[in-house]
Amino acid sequence: MSPRWRSNGNTESVDNYLKAIFYLGGLEECRVSIKALAERLCVAPASVTNMLQKLAASPAPLVEYERHRGVQLSAAGKRRALEVVRHHRLIETFLYRVLDYPIEEVHEEAERLEHFISERFEERIAAKLGHPTIDPHGHSIPTMEGKMATRESILLADVVEDGTFVIESVSDRDAQNLRLLEACGIVPGARMQVSKSASLEGYSVRIGRSSKVFALSCEVALDIRIVRPTK
Ligand SMILES: [Zn+2]
Repeated sequence: MSPRWRSNGNTESVDNYLKAIFYLGGLEECRVSIKALAERLCVAPASVTNMLQKLAASPAPLVEYERHRGVQLSAAGKRRALEVVRHHRLIETFLYRVLDYPIEEVHEEAERLEHFISERFEERIAAKLGHPTIDPHGHSIPTMEGKMATRESILLADVVEDGTFVIESVSDRDAQNLRLLEACGIVPGARMQVSKSASLEGYSVRIGRSSKVFALSCEVALDIRIVRPTK
């Protein structure tokens, strides 16, 4: 990694900008609006504009920013964003699998640590874990080379017909939800029977072979991504 980012006292905050642009823009690299970015980072739009102008004006810019057109990552910015995402997801996997952290605590801890681990530490974690490709929430871990697998999944909230699905991932953004969902067995890899109840706002789901039915609100259904079972 270039020491340029390290010597900047602002590493954490720059990384968080890059990550937010990356998440909002997706791998297709579409432009992200200042408003969306400000909401995601919980800061004022004026501060976002300020930071983006600074980032775009540096000698090797991490972002491409044009007033009124929004922002996207430069090639260097995308590399750095993927590296931080790799750190984050590896740390989550390590905390969960090796240190037995509860699922709902790994995200916050990783948010802190992701900016500071060395390349050596990253490599050692990956080796210890057998070079995992998926984190405990079901999200793809980018490779050392900055490649990230994309999978065809849909949101539970977009399901219109009853059916059986496999849970691909559960969002890590709401710790309380995560804990509740895990307690119901709603975890990546689990098979889930979904019925969209006509009388009820939301979904009734059954997990694996259990006959127990859980009701999920439409809001929670936005946190769960699913795929069709392969068999
Ligand atoms: Zn996380």
